Amino acid sequence: MITLLPDHVANQIAAGEVVQRPASAVKELMENAIDAGATDIKLIIKDSGKSLIQVIDNGSGMNEVDARMCFERHATSKISKADDLFALTTKGFRGEALASIAAIAQVELKTKKEDAELGLQITIEGSEFKAQEVCTCANGTSFSVKNLFFNVPARRNFLKSDRAEYKYILDEFIRIALAHSTIAFSLINNDKEQYRLYKETLRQRLVSLYGKKYNPRLVPVEEKTDIVTISGFICKPEFAKKSRGEQYFFVNNRFIKSSYLNHAVLNSMEGLLQVDQHPSYFLFLEIDPAKIDVNIHPTKTEIKFENERNVYAILRSALKRSLGQYNIAPSLDFNLNPDYQVPIVSKTRTIKTPTIEVDPSFNPFEQEKESNSNVSTEFSSASTSSKPFIKNNPNERGKHWEAIFEEIQDDMNTAIPEYHKDITSIENEVEIEGNRYAFQLQQRFILTQLKSGLLIIDQQRAHTRILYEQYFKSLVNSSPLSQQLIFPQEIHLSSGDMELFMEILKDVESLGFDISIQAEQCLMVNGVPFETKASEVDKIIDSLLDSYKNECDAWKSDTHKYLAKKLALKNSIKTGKILNLQEMNQLVDQLFACDTPFISIHNKPTVIILEMNELLKQFK
Ligand code: ADP
Ligand code: MG
Repeated sequence: MITLLPDHVANQIAAGEVVQRPASAVKELMENAIDAGATDIKLIIKDSGKSLIQVIDNGSGMNEVDARMCFERHATSKISKADDLFALTTKGFRGEALASIAAIAQVELKTKKEDAELGLQITIEGSEFKAQEVCTCANGTSFSVKNLFFNVPARRNFLKSDRAEYKYILDEFIRIALAHSTIAFSLINNDKEQYRLYKETLRQRLVSLYGKKYNPRLVPVEEKTDIVTISGFICKPEFAKKSRGEQYFFVNNRFIKSSYLNHAVLNSMEGLLQVDQHPSYFLFLEIDPAKIDVNIHPTKTEIKFENERNVYAILRSALKRSLGQYNIAPSLDFNLNPDYQVPIVSKTRTIKTPTIEVDPSFNPFEQEKESNSNVSTEFSSASTSSKPFIKNNPNERGKHWEAIFEEIQDDMNTAIPEYHKDITSIENEVEIEGNRYAFQLQQRFILTQLKSGLLIIDQQRAHTRILYEQYFKSLVNSSPLSQQLIFPQEIHLSSGDMELFMEILKDVESLGFDISIQAEQCLMVNGVPFETKASEVDKIIDSLLDSYKNECDAWKSDTHKYLAKKLALKNSIKTGKILNLQEMNQLVDQLFACDTPFISIHNKPTVIILEMNELLKQFK
C-alpha cells in the first residue's frame, strides 16, 4: 500500500538535509535577509543556537499571504520557471529552508512591509501553525528559531559541544559578513555583543573582523576579463599561517570551497611560502551565472565552473601580477599556458608608487640591550650581521642582496664572509681556551670533532630541542623567564579573538608573557619569554591564537608540552642563519646539557656521528 507522506513528515525528512546544525539555520536565515534587500542584519544566539537563533533584518518584509506561504515546502519568490535557474542572483531559490526549519523547531516570525501600518506575528511549531495575529514591529522581518531539534532528540544528541557549534555559527557569520561588506551586521552571543560591523569597504571589513594588524598585510587583487572578474585581497606571503585559517573564495558573493582554485593561489606564490604554510586570502570571483552549475545544494559549498581551467589561469596570473606590483614576488612570469590564453580586457591598471614601510617594532636600543644582557642562552648578538643570509624570508633577501654582494666583493680572494674568518684562521687544531674547533656547513650544520670521529649537528633542530626543554621546565616549575620590553607593544584583536584570548591568557602568561588588557579589543605586551624578539611578538600572539582555534584539543590535553613546542619552534635559530664560533660552541654545550639531546622535538635526529673507522673505510 503506497501512501503519500504527510507534509510535516516530508518536511522533517527534508530538514535533515537542509538543517544539520544550528549554523545551517543561521546561514539560511541570514541569506534570506540578504535576498530581502536588508542593509542591516542582526544575529542573536543563545546556547550556541540550541535554544535560540534570531535574525532581525530591515529588508522588504512580507505581506500576510507571503508570511504564511513562506513556511510551505517549495514556496519561493525567487524563481518561477526552470530557466530562472540559469540567471540566479539570489542566495536561495529552493524554497525549502523555512519549511525545514519550522518542521524541527519552534519558530516565531514577525514581519512588516514598509507601506503597511501593522505587522504580522506567526508562531509555528513542528510544522503546525499555532498562532497568527497582528503586531507592531519595525519594517522588515525577524525570525526567532527556538529549541532546534526539539522534536528530533536523536539529532539534538548528535550535536557537538557548545564551543564547537558556536564556532560553526561564527564561521557562517564571518563568511556572510565578508561577502557583503556593504551590509551592516551585528552578532550577539549569550547577551554579549561579539561583532558590530558597519557598512564599509572590504578592506575596512577585514580590519573590523581581524584587527588593525591586517591592514598592512593586504595586497589588493583586481582583474577583469570576459570570463571572470576577480577582486579582493591576498595577504603578503610572510604572514602565511601554519593552519588553513583565512582562505575565502566567493563566487558571485557566495562562499565556496575549491581546492582547485586554492592550488592556483599556491602556484602563484611558488617560492614565497615555506612548506606547510597557508596563505590567507579573500578573493571574489564574478561569473555569469549561466556559466556555473546551478544544481548547488543549499548546504554544499562546492561549485562547478564551465571554464574551470581558464578561471584557474586567470586567477593565477592576476595574483602573480598583484604580488609583483607590490614587490613581493622575487621573479615574475606572466606567461600563461597558451592553451589557457584569454583576452584580458582591463588595460587601465594603475601602478601605485611603492610605499615605504616603517617597522613599528624597530628599536634602536635593542642592540645595546642584547649585548648587555648576560642571559647565557643569548644568540641574537649576531643577528644583525647575519640578516642578509636569512633564506626563509624573501623580503629580507630582496632588500639586502646588494649588501651581500658588496661584502663578497670585498673579500674576493676567499669569498668567505667576515664572521667566518676567525674559524678559518685557526690553522692548527689547537683548542682555544676550551673552545671546540667548530665549523658551519651550508648555514645548516655545525661540524665539530669528537675523539671517535666527526659530530654533525643540525642547528635548527638542536636549538629547537634546547629551547623546548628550557620552556618546558619553566612551565612545569611555573617560573617563566621573562624579559621586559623597553617599548611595550599594543596588539589589537577582533572581539571574537579577544574573547578567545581571554581563555588562553593564563597559559600565555605562564610562558613568560607579561600582558595587560588595555581596552576591550586591545592588549599591551610588556614582557616576553626569553629568546623572543620584540619584532616577533604580534606574530607569536597571532599564531598562539591560531593554534588554540585549530588545535584546541592538543592544546588542552597537554598544555605544557604543547606551548613549549610552539614557542620553541617560533624562537629557534633557523637553517640559513650564520653562527660564529662562540655561538656554535654555546649551542653544542647547551644541546648536550639537554635531557634528550639526540632527538628533535619531532622525533628526528638532531646530531649524527661519523665514526673514524667509517671514515677510514671510505678512504680505502
Ligand atoms: P528560498 O530562500 O529558497 O526562496 P526559503 O524557505 O528560505 O526559500 O524562503 C521562502 C520565501 O520566504 C522566500 O522566497 C522569500 O520570499 C520569503 N522570505 C524568507 N525570509 C524572508 C525575509 N527575511 N524577508 C522577506 N522575505 C523572506
Ligand atoms: Mg532561503
